[in-house]
Amino acid sequence: MDQDVLDAVRLLRGHLRELVEARRVAVLDGRLAGVLSLAEQDSEAALPELAGVLSGEPELENWVARVLEDPHKRPPALQARSERAPDRLPGTGEPVPALRYECPLGDYAWYRLTVGERVRKCPTHRLLLVAASG
Ligand SMILES: [Zn+2]
Repeated sequence: MDQDVLDAVRLLRGHLRELVEARRVAVLDGRLAGVLSLAEQDSEAALPELAGVLSGEPELENWVARVLEDPHKRPPALQARSERAPDRLPGTGEPVPALRYECPLGDYAWYRLTVGERVRKCPTHRLLLVAASG
């Protein structure tokens, strides 16, 4: 499976809460974690597995497609924000740059969109996410 697709799946895990009802997050996250661990052993088998998770979830499928279309592979909410940036009010200062955080073991990624959000833990490893460089 393509590295960009794998990365989009890691990022999808981090942004599930914005995309599906709260009660569905844990189940979907577990299935996506399964896709990623399968990909480590058998990259070819992971793609149909991912298709299986995304089928019947058009919003998630669309979200992944939009991440893959972005040259920087960012979540759609972040793509929209940088496009809107020129019309922010004068005197409000620069928007806080969104920072990417990752699980130290590499299976979960998330962009912190506002300073008020607490940095999370990877639901698989229970490790606090770390800021990614670059
Ligand atoms: Zn992890």
